[in-house]
Amino acid sequence: MSGQANFFDQVTQYFSEAAKFTTYPQGLLEQIRVCNSVYRFDFPLRRAGGEIEVIHAWRVEHSQHKMPVKGGIRFSPDVYEEEVMALAALMTYKCAIVDVPFGGAKGGIKIDPKNYPIDELERITRRYALELTKKHFLGPGIDVPAPDYGTGEREMSWIADTYAALNPGELDALGCVTGKPVTQGGVRGRKEATGRGLYFALREACNEPDEMKRLGLPLGLDGKTIVVQGLGNVGYHAAKFCREGGAILLAIAEREGAIMNPKGLNEDEVFNHRKATGSILNFPGATNIENSAAALELQCDVLLPAALESVLTKENAPRIKAKILLEGANGPTTPEADPIFRQKGMLVIPDIYCNAGGVTVSYFEWLKNLSHVRFGRMQKRHEQANELAMLKAIEAATGRKFTELERASIARGPDEQDLVNSGLEETMIAAFHDLLKTQRETKGIPDLRIAAFVSAIHKVARSYMELGIFP
Ligand code: NAD
Repeated sequence: MSGQANFFDQVTQYFSEAAKFTTYPQGLLEQIRVCNSVYRFDFPLRRAGGEIEVIHAWRVEHSQHKMPVKGGIRFSPDVYEEEVMALAALMTYKCAIVDVPFGGAKGGIKIDPKNYPIDELERITRRYALELTKKHFLGPGIDVPAPDYGTGEREMSWIADTYAALNPGELDALGCVTGKPVTQGGVRGRKEATGRGLYFALREACNEPDEMKRLGLPLGLDGKTIVVQGLGNVGYHAAKFCREGGAILLAIAEREGAIMNPKGLNEDEVFNHRKATGSILNFPGATNIENSAAALELQCDVLLPAALESVLTKENAPRIKAKILLEGANGPTTPEADPIFRQKGMLVIPDIYCNAGGVTVSYFEWLKNLSHVRFGRMQKRHEQANELAMLKAIEAATGRKFTELERASIARGPDEQDLVNSGLEETMIAAFHDLLKTQRETKGIPDLRIAAFVSAIHKVARSYMELGIFP
């Protein structure tokens, strides 16, 4: 990608720093660090005018210590091999941190989706899925992609459909990809899962008395000011849940510029304004910031980069004023910026933990596809009946009558969305405290990022040792 060092080397730097806090043999650490398979391929696309364009694509499987491997597919003109490798490696560590039983992978196609009509995008995506299937880089027990930057539910449907067509009768075919629309085997809550997970991570951090005291901030999310970069899937949903949780959206930055309003923005209104006018700028009541990147340097409590990697570098790090960095994007911080943030005493909530909500709910979607039943279908009515019986017993014992509204909100039985959200919440809370514990119990670990890498290395190493490959 333009103007940055090799992203995979950056991830390796973090890995090496964390590896110093473990005692595994060098060979085992090297096996965990390297990418197991890197598949680079090209295929032709006949465009509307008849000319042929060669499309460049990748799929990287970083670690096959657990199968299937899992990771998103990115459509971007800036995709390059080491970037896909780095993102695949981050997926391995991410899955380990949140106890999702997959190895890490990532895919990329070097295109700007805005330059192709839908029928061409469909052909590119289907051909990509075909090439992966031919080489055994796609399948519910092999490699399960998901959306990432520049892709969404539509592309995931095309992939699922292509794979199913190539594997007639394969019962679990829908489990070959996650992030599908609900009508195509998707799970409720997947689209917003990364953003919701970011909210849970931030809420948990803001409820940590020692951390908030250290930062000089009041306890809780309520009233904390947030600057969000990128109003795509991750940024939009994270902004929504944080605002609904009491935070103030101070500024939102997009490609064309940024806007700020100290009274708070509403992400939905901003999204609609951008859709209607083609730009985030000139939003009623807000101040324009023409240079989008300048928004990162605003005085705020929380900075939430949710667009691309390497936006926080040694160049702009000294000017960052946020006290908490919540990494929605993958790799938004370069290793040279991290020591500057440490020196400032910032709380960095690292990407490999806090944006793991997407892969967590993708795991739930995959489980749903393999079990062929909607979550909650078997227990909803049963639990509702139990809850109603409990309410009746309380009424009989206390003489208090519940209103219809109370009855409906207490005795409803969980549906799929409730179960997915509660599974995600539990995952994010448990992993946060696991990282905090790792940092506090291992002398010298400088921040939560290195704690997260240490925790991931332990889990992947244990897996290799249990396989009997290493002593
Ligand atoms: P997306 O394509 O939905 O959104 C990205 C947004 O960033 C777009 O609105 C785009 O216009 C904006 N953007 C691009 N360049 C920008 C710039 N220079 N300044 C400001 N805004 C800019 O992508 P997404 O799925 O939201 O992914 C965003 C990041 O989050 C990526 O790093 C991705 O790897 C990571 N991530 C995504 C998921 C997921 O579930 N989608 C999960 C984990 C991590």
